[in-house]
Amino acid sequence: MLPAQFTKLIAELEHLTDSQTRYVEKLLKGTDSVSQLITELEERMVENPECPHCHSSLINRHGKVNKMQRYRCKNCGKTFVATTATPLARLRYKELWLEYIRCMLDSKPLRKCAEECGLHLETSFRWRHRFLALPSALNASKLEGIIEADETLFPYSEKGSKRMTRQPRKRGVKAKKRGRSKDDWVPVLTVRDRAKNTYEAVVPSVTSAALHQELAGKLEKDSVLCSDGYKPYIALSEKNDLIHKRLDVAGGVKVIDKVFHIQNVNAYHSRLKAWIKRFHGVATKYLEHYLGWFRFMDNPENLNENRLFSIQQQLIRT
Ligand SMILES: [Zn+2]
Repeated sequence: MLPAQFTKLIAELEHLTDSQTRYVEKLLKGTDSVSQLITELEERMVENPECPHCHSSLINRHGKVNKMQRYRCKNCGKTFVATTATPLARLRYKELWLEYIRCMLDSKPLRKCAEECGLHLETSFRWRHRFLALPSALNASKLEGIIEADETLFPYSEKGSKRMTRQPRKRGVKAKKRGRSKDDWVPVLTVRDRAKNTYEAVVPSVTSAALHQELAGKLEKDSVLCSDGYKPYIALSEKNDLIHKRLDVAGGVKVIDKVFHIQNVNAYHSRLKAWIKRFHGVATKYLEHYLGWFRFMDNPENLNENRLFSIQQQLIRT
């Protein structure tokens, strides 16, 4: 670079926004995890070539696009890049991904994320849900020891849908708390063991069949299941060779033998409810994404953007 050009570049640097500055710093230090991930995906394509469209291994290099290697499949003729068929596919502005993820780890609302990253609101929405696809798929596959199970209810919402299939609730009218009416409330089942392994699912209703469908094969034999004694939990314990401890909080039985209780799962629900309030009502069809987001962030080890970003590759070609 000519000295005059260099001077100009340095002068331009003063006009960078904070997030652009951070990106340049990362680039210069070589610690930019976006480039690292793409490099990793491209190396994988060399070691183990596979067309994401037809799974053929006969692929050729085919120019570059957005500084990424493009490939062309000799079998189906389609082109692709290393991020095709990953959550990152067709997301532009790579330099903003980490910044965006950082906003998400701060639980910022959509509009705020859009403002800070200089994105359109629709792009902000698309990115949020793309980055949440993986956390919402990460659910405990094994629970053991003392396992606590309980459900909590979220108001049914068609927020954001163009066509409402039912009348929205009038403002100020509080939905009735009791009664598990399918129309008004969506039950979320949470099962958590003392190692904090957590399995969560939106279920149509808390029935024996629903519990079986969600939890079959996930509960280690001879574990102890703690619940409020709602019948489906008793049936679940019997079916899975679990010892069942029935807590009756209303009746004053909060803890049995000092260790059996459902206070962890109830505290988890309280944290989740307090957190989700900031979004002023979540559309039911996206509830699982928000649950996954919270589950991910409830583990302090996960609270850095590189981690949320790097796990995105786990969804690759699955
Ligand atoms: Zn192909």
